[in-house]
Amino acid sequence: MDVKVGDRLEMKKSHPCGGKEFLVLRVGMDFKIRCTKCGHEVMVPRNKIEKNIKKIQRD
Ligand SMILES: [Zn+2]
Repeated sequence: MDVKVGDRLEMKKSHPCGGKEFLVLRVGMDFKIRCTKCGHEVMVPRNKIEKNIKKIQRD
């Protein structure tokens, strides 16, 4: 799956705050993403993210 910085990811599993959309800040072995609802930033391993992506939104 091809994810780029600036993409917004709609996840199958939502953040504890209820947000389902995350902005990609950094890609690599670990992805850094920010919940667009509460602004929380998290680092997640690539394989874990790829399993959890429902949709990629790119402008
Ligand atoms: Zn959140």
